[in-house]
Amino acid sequence: MNTQLKKFMDYVVAKNPAEPEFYQAVEEVAETILPFLDENPKYKAAKVFERMIEAERIIVFRVPWIDDKGEVQVNRGFRIEMNSAIGPYKGGLRFHPTVNLGILKFLAFEQVFKNSLTSLPMGGGKGGSDFDPKGKSDNEVMRFCQSFMTELFRHIGPDTDVPAGDIGVGGREVGYMFGQYKRIRNEFTGVLTGKGREYGGSLIRPEATGYGTVYFAQEMLATINEGFKNKVVAISGSGNVAQFAAEKVLDLGGKVVTFSDSTGYIHDPDGIDREKLAFIMELKNIKRGRIREYSDHYGCKYVEGVSRPWAEKCDIALPCATENEINAKEAKILVDNGCICVSEGANMPSTPEAVEVFLENKILYGPGKAANAGGVATSGLEMSQNSLRLSWTREEVDQRLHNIMVNIHKTCVEYGKEGDFVNYVKGANIGGFVKVADAMMAQGYV
Ligand code: NDP
Repeated sequence: MNTQLKKFMDYVVAKNPAEPEFYQAVEEVAETILPFLDENPKYKAAKVFERMIEAERIIVFRVPWIDDKGEVQVNRGFRIEMNSAIGPYKGGLRFHPTVNLGILKFLAFEQVFKNSLTSLPMGGGKGGSDFDPKGKSDNEVMRFCQSFMTELFRHIGPDTDVPAGDIGVGGREVGYMFGQYKRIRNEFTGVLTGKGREYGGSLIRPEATGYGTVYFAQEMLATINEGFKNKVVAISGSGNVAQFAAEKVLDLGGKVVTFSDSTGYIHDPDGIDREKLAFIMELKNIKRGRIREYSDHYGCKYVEGVSRPWAEKCDIALPCATENEINAKEAKILVDNGCICVSEGANMPSTPEAVEVFLENKILYGPGKAANAGGVATSGLEMSQNSLRLSWTREEVDQRLHNIMVNIHKTCVEYGKEGDFVNYVKGANIGGFVKVADAMMAQGYV
């Protein structure tokens, strides 16, 4: 680490004790932004980057609820309102037992850059709770969501802060939270995205993050005259992002061979076709079962206790589960096995050392803040439709999503080109930074 970066990171660590994921996200951006600031002293003088790493507002609150046995449970709720320079705060809610302030700050920080890259007017935010929806009844999830929203409602609004889903928050949870917001406010507005179709949700929003990750990979592959056709694709996770990434890979003629969850992974060398994918969707979205049940049903390999499939040979890897799910050793295995492209559906799934392996070996590597921006972009399209009180067709939303991913790729190339190689990390960081920084400069020290 050079002296300038070390000094900056010492300052970040001192100000934000015990938040390793936040340091990791800031350092990854600082590595490319600090040299850019040296070349553009106007941002440096205005301390734009120092301001960007400080949330505009953080809300932490108690969420009490009653379980099915009549016992009182207490969780902690959070909302990080990170940056509103270019639009209302926008970013998902995560319900997972590992949720803490540092994780949400990393996600909110990344969200600022990601939202800027979409070119839509959205600031950055993130929130959630350490509540675990796994194993809870629908009624318990509803009571939790209602209690969560009973505090959150006063901090959000369609022109202030518009949350969406993330890990553990899908259509069911968004529905319960929207219902409670509407009841308290007596207002039907687009305060959340990822809503059901019947009450203001956008077509393609459930598919958007996964589709977008594949569209981004498609653009990267095109730069080396490659595509998905007949490529072997390893996917991690088996939730929202993983499922729809797989669907789009199948549309483009690729062969998906893995899925995982937090207890293990499956490897199906024959390929997970549409019928098998439908089985996974029902297993995960309706029965809320474990990925092991796929191997019980189809008789393929299941590796218990290993939630990442990177030891399996593939041409393209789509990490779609969670942060830090590819380490340097696994990155090396991927490269050694001939993987030519990694497109991140999850947020920060590769450790800094893994990223280094990808960059050193000059494979196509699309960081999450660019590659998975399709989800929030389509949330932005949902906001537009809510404001217009119109619903666009599936084709229209998909076309807009596709165009946005193509444009994000162009921005990354513009800022990340290093000779023949495109450093997408640098491209996404600088491309996302400039718009927010200029808006902050124009608005004074607020
Ligand atoms: P889901 O809750 O639908 O699915 C998450 C999947 O990842 C599940 O298969 C889950 O397994 C697995 N997983 C979660 N945590 C861990 C862990 N600690 N170790 C191993 N496996 C884990 O979430 P999404 O698909 O929505 O989100 C996946 C990733 O994509 C996250 O990084 C999220 O931030 C990112 N993302 C999501 C967007 C969206 O629109 N939903 C937008 C942009 C990024 P299990 O069921 O066993 O927990």
